Amino acid sequence: MPDPLRPIPHRRFDALIIGAGGAGLNAALRLASADLRVAVVSKVFPTRSHTVAAQGGVNAALANVLPDDWHWHMFDTVKGSDYLGDQDAIEYMCREAIPTVYELEHAGVPFSRIDDGRIYQRAFGGQSQNFGGDQAARTCAAADRTGHAILHTLYQQNVRARTHFFDEYFAIDLIRDEEGAILGALVLEIETGETLVIEAKATLLATGGHGQVFRTTTNAFINTGDGMAMALRAGVPLMDMEFYQFHPTGVAGKGMLITEGARGEGGYLINGDGERFMERYAPRALDLASRDVVARSMVTEIREGRGCGPNKDHVMLRLDHLGADVVHRRLPGITDICRVFLGIDPAEQPIPVFPTAHYAMGGIPTDRFARVVAPARHGPEEIVPGLYAAGECACVSVHGANRLGGNSLLDILVFGRAAGTDILQYVAENPNHRPMRDADIEPALTRLGRWDRSGEGESVAAAKADLRKLMEDHCGVFRDDATMAEGVEKLKALRQRVEHVRLKDQSRTFNTARIEALELDNLVDVGMATLMSALHRQESRGAHSRVDYPERDDEQWMKHSLYARDGDRMDYKPVRTKPLTVESFPPKARVY
Ligand SMILES: Cc1cc2nc3c(=O)[nH]c(=O)nc-3n(C[C@H](O)[C@H](O)[C@H](O)COP(=O)(O)OP(=O)(O)OC[C@H]3O[C@@H](n4cnc5c(N)ncnc54)[C@H](O)[C@@H]3O)c2cc1C
Repeated sequence: MPDPLRPIPHRRFDALIIGAGGAGLNAALRLASADLRVAVVSKVFPTRSHTVAAQGGVNAALANVLPDDWHWHMFDTVKGSDYLGDQDAIEYMCREAIPTVYELEHAGVPFSRIDDGRIYQRAFGGQSQNFGGDQAARTCAAADRTGHAILHTLYQQNVRARTHFFDEYFAIDLIRDEEGAILGALVLEIETGETLVIEAKATLLATGGHGQVFRTTTNAFINTGDGMAMALRAGVPLMDMEFYQFHPTGVAGKGMLITEGARGEGGYLINGDGERFMERYAPRALDLASRDVVARSMVTEIREGRGCGPNKDHVMLRLDHLGADVVHRRLPGITDICRVFLGIDPAEQPIPVFPTAHYAMGGIPTDRFARVVAPARHGPEEIVPGLYAAGECACVSVHGANRLGGNSLLDILVFGRAAGTDILQYVAENPNHRPMRDADIEPALTRLGRWDRSGEGESVAAAKADLRKLMEDHCGVFRDDATMAEGVEKLKALRQRVEHVRLKDQSRTFNTARIEALELDNLVDVGMATLMSALHRQESRGAHSRVDYPERDDEQWMKHSLYARDGDRMDYKPVRTKPLTVESFPPKARVY
């Protein structure tokens, strides 16, 4: 807790951005370039944000390799979302994709090239020409290190534009006034443990995903859903949290990602009988069917006894027929992962793979200007004054029930930029800081002082391990009522345990243990949102696959779910099926 004799320092900025991944940095760049005073807070050095790990690429209908059109991209995204995505936001994203990628190219992103010098594009899952026809090639790539190239370029451009970075500062909670307007955040300098209040006219949450809530994940240790939990505590419900993507090709038993680009380059999956089983599940798209379809097919093969290895608990991804040149040149990062973690060369031996927790389709509900929308006190829905969200922590919703590969880097860039544009206008219309009272900071401070330091209680690591196992066991690729209901009860018990974790840990300094406790607390909230939303949705759609309700039910369930922390309540709101300028794509059976 801060020393009562030393008041907490305050800093004032026009805009506060929490998160320095692609979403946060693209918003910051827009604002700093317009000479606003912008603070970016990140719990790790900006270029260590998870965006740096993105491998395969970013989608835009540039038509450099095969014919393409933004309208086809829109169709694929709506179909991929299993018709739960909002079609106005999807149209906006697919149209904006093209100028967004050119803007990145001009900012200096070193994309791979085709022979005539234009940007290289590879085939990814769920992409088609002409509204469901032949495979398209829409994913713009910098080898298999696209996120690295994008994040470093955006960081350099922000340094040039004089964005103010608070590196290795941890955001504890949003600060809001009596009317519910967001005034900034309380942050903690990780190295010193000093607190700081950052006051801002507008605050953007760009804190990324929460893959750490599952045991086996492609996500980094930092992806703990902090921003989503902050929104929940500020009274904003989370939307569509039951839709969590399991990526088909994580390294079996370890979780590291083997990009879908590996299948885009011609790789394919085989079962224990050496059979190319995707022929049975997706006769046209084969291994490039949508991710939810491929992940379920793999788990079904294994459950029916056709897995590989002594325990028949994984399948194999073959790249060895592509030749060392393609594998090593187009997939150098994958080659490294296989050499380091498996001791094999993927150009010679197949890779053992299993579906792995990867991506949050749900999150903080926003409109397509990245403004956070929440149920109003006196009406159906309103914009939360001064609060924005973009990137994986937000739900616009462009991914609906299932995201297509290459559409997340696109989402973070397009809606990060949209947030910047809207904040410019908001700050012009609201030029003064709203007054902040001590009482407004109080709830955030209380959170900091929650755990005692006596050294009593169980360790954070033990509680976290139990949480991650619980989520994997009770809310995995296939779900049913009894398993999830049991999961909710176990999670309620775990929530109580987290109240009593000990901060003293012989192997760690006090401050690190405190950060880990705060992260665990956030993960528990986000885990509860996921489990409750999944338990209540009685249908199978996209990534949410229920054994007891195997069909999609458009009559009952063409709606977004909203989970509120207060009383673990569920609510629903309609899907926006009307695009901006074109005709709607009506729901159809989803076959690949
Ligand atoms: C291994 C991997 C490969 C992927 N490959 C692709 C791909 O090829 N194509 C694609 O489209 N998508 C891909 N994705 C998904 C995509 O990369 C992510 O969804 C996206 O990069 C998220 O960006 P973001 O800006 O929302 O958040 P992130 O990049 O995750 O950044 C979050 C930021 O928030 C900060 N933060 C979080 N909590 C706090 C806090 N409490 N206080 C202060 N700061 C905080 C972090 O420090 C960080 O700066 C991949 C994901 C993974 C994990």
